[in-house]
Amino acid sequence: MSARIIDGKKIAAGIREEVREQILRLHEETGRVPGLAAVLVGEDPASATYVRTKTRACQEVGIASRGITPPGDIAQSELLQIIHELNLDPAIHGILVQLPLPKHLHERVVLEAVDTRKDVDGFTFANVGRLVEGQPLFVPCTPAGILELLDREGVAIKGKHAVVVGRSEIVGKPVAFLLLHRHATVTICHSRTSDLTAETRRADILVAAVGRPRLITGDMIKPGAVVVDVGINRVDGKLVGDVDFESAVQVASAITPVPGGVGPMTVAMLLRNTLRALEQSIRDS
Ligand code: NAD
Repeated sequence: MSARIIDGKKIAAGIREEVREQILRLHEETGRVPGLAAVLVGEDPASATYVRTKTRACQEVGIASRGITPPGDIAQSELLQIIHELNLDPAIHGILVQLPLPKHLHERVVLEAVDTRKDVDGFTFANVGRLVEGQPLFVPCTPAGILELLDREGVAIKGKHAVVVGRSEIVGKPVAFLLLHRHATVTICHSRTSDLTAETRRADILVAAVGRPRLITGDMIKPGAVVVDVGINRVDGKLVGDVDFESAVQVASAITPVPGGVGPMTVAMLLRNTLRALEQSIRDS
């Protein structure tokens, strides 16, 4: 058996087109366009690439993006002031603070400074709480993208056993809650899980968000499972996932590739969240 390859790039392109059309319509009706501020502190090259990808995607769908690039040694109080001004700026509907921040800045304090209604990454405590409660305002983009992929591929979630490997705040935990709210039975595995294979082999839906190249091999997968590989690891100059694609593709019924699986969905969800932030602000005004 060879698994169906889930084409995240194509699905994400479709979503971007939907967002573009909705923005066009909204602009015709209200004269407004969504605005996204991307705050990139310092000069980390990987972070700069991520922000460039996001701002370029914004331009393509008609979101006005604003890059804010304070120096790496900015004082926390100054950074908080920048965020405060963005919170008050009527042209800005979404604010993203690119992580990781330089060590002298307190990540949680900085994230909490973002107005919940502009928190398009869904990282503030208020938005995390809403997600856990099952009443999300903004869902973090990667987990939202994973659910969107499953839905658009027609993968049934209700009653299935979903195993999430990884318990990070930005992927593992939120995706586990999203699956739970869709009535999956969810197991969360992590670095101290004593028998990872025993857990992953029970998964109808397996989500790997670990950051360990090719950790999940074909023998750890239940035949016919749907495998979502979130990992982005650079090995010998090549991008590989947390799943050993060659062996997994023989066992799974469907699998996301790396690159071209979850990655493009993350950006598409950011665009959609930013559009929703504008729509919400119009409703609130
Ligand atoms: P993280 O480092 O914050 O968390 C990794 C998790 O994996 C931890 O909870 C840890 O307990 C668990 N873990 C580590 N080693 C393990 C092991 N041997 N067995 C079981 N669990 C183990 O990582 P993250 O931010 O969640 O990211 C995970 C991966 O997803 C990374 O490769 C990252 O680059 C990628 N990622 C991709 C996207 C995307 O858009 N595709 C977005 C975010 C993260």
